[in-house]
Amino acid sequence: MSLKLSESITKISSNFILLKYKHQSKVERGIGSPNSVIVENNEEIAVIDPASWTHNLKLFLKYKNKEQIQENYSVRKIALTHEHWDHILAGSYFQEKLDFEISSSELEKEAVEDEEILFKHMFGDYPILEREMRISTISKKVVKKTITWMWGPYYSMKVSNTLKEGDTFFDEPQIKVIETPSHTSGSLSFYVPTDKILISGDLMDLETGVGLDLNNPYSSVEAGLRSLEKVKKLDIEILIPGHGEIVKGKETIKKLFEKRIQETTSIYNKIIELLETRPTTLRGLVIGVFPDTRWKINLYYLRKYLIFAYLNEINKKRGLNIEQKLNKTQISI
Ligand SMILES: [Zn+2]
Repeated sequence: MSLKLSESITKISSNFILLKYKHQSKVERGIGSPNSVIVENNEEIAVIDPASWTHNLKLFLKYKNKEQIQENYSVRKIALTHEHWDHILAGSYFQEKLDFEISSSELEKEAVEDEEILFKHMFGDYPILEREMRISTISKKVVKKTITWMWGPYYSMKVSNTLKEGDTFFDEPQIKVIETPSHTSGSLSFYVPTDKILISGDLMDLETGVGLDLNNPYSSVEAGLRSLEKVKKLDIEILIPGHGEIVKGKETIKKLFEKRIQETTSIYNKIIELLETRPTTLRGLVIGVFPDTRWKINLYYLRKYLIFAYLNEINKKRGLNIEQKLNKTQISI
């Protein structure tokens, strides 16, 4: 499969650089191309989401080589918006070869340090719809191969510092930590008051997402809506999402947050409506909410996980009936 790519190293403001790449074809678009952000001053350098070996690390080394890093910066550090492969993988290179210290949220430290825990967070322990959602041992191998092909290998790394709400990750310019659970329970955003920049991680996925990007059993609709309301109150001129293009302008950004809140709420309501009409299957819900998904296998799978996260929330709030009938899992309310 040929990958048509565009890659860029862009100066966002005096201290901030964005490393970004994008697959041009529709097939590869769905696999996601995470953004990396570099922040630096005369002595210190930090990378928020080192991301992939395949693209982000290559771009970083084009921007600064090993010698420049060693000579120019006495402080070198990494912050992770969340634990997922596409955002963390190259972290092990930064730690091993360039002597960067890694910070993550306390909740995700273990998953960053141990891929088995990361797998469990992503695919295991589904309290409902187990048969439909659990990934088998064989397909786990396929997932690992696919991840390595897309973003590079996983090597264990050490998280030496954990971040929480209100912490300052970087001093000059000041970067503040904001807890924004949604996509994962420990998801963090980073806010720069002087430059009015928000680095949102996958709270905002502008590449493949509709509403909130909820793709695992720990994704939460309710927490996500609260996180969107929280960042909406900040004074932001530049939004750097986890995936997709940066967005500029206070009003445009505010409207975007509102749109995501509205999309998320209407997906939730649509699922309730479908469940109240008649018992249905997970597939029935995916097609019912997103009719265009019927013939698009890659989108179908992404959206199956998305719908699953909503079902988790509905189950918590009002309970679901899940029955096995003729090899089909029937869901009703
Ligand atoms: Zn993610």
